[in-house]
Amino acid sequence: MKCPHCGKEIEDSKQPYRPFCSDRCKLIDLGKWISEDYRVPAPETENNDQRNPMKDPGEE
Ligand SMILES: [Zn+2]
Repeated sequence: MKCPHCGKEIEDSKQPYRPFCSDRCKLIDLGKWISEDYRVPAPETENNDQRNPMKDPGEE
């Protein structure tokens, strides 16, 4: 088993940070995931520029 972040071989099957080799790799990989998620730009569609005439009745 190898750490998906740094590729280091993990020999200890009781490794608490599996599948990562360490807490650090786990946090880095997790942070990478989150930052990539936030980095995704919101799709700008031209339709969003128009006011929707069918306004949601529950919307103030
Ligand atoms: Zn690692």
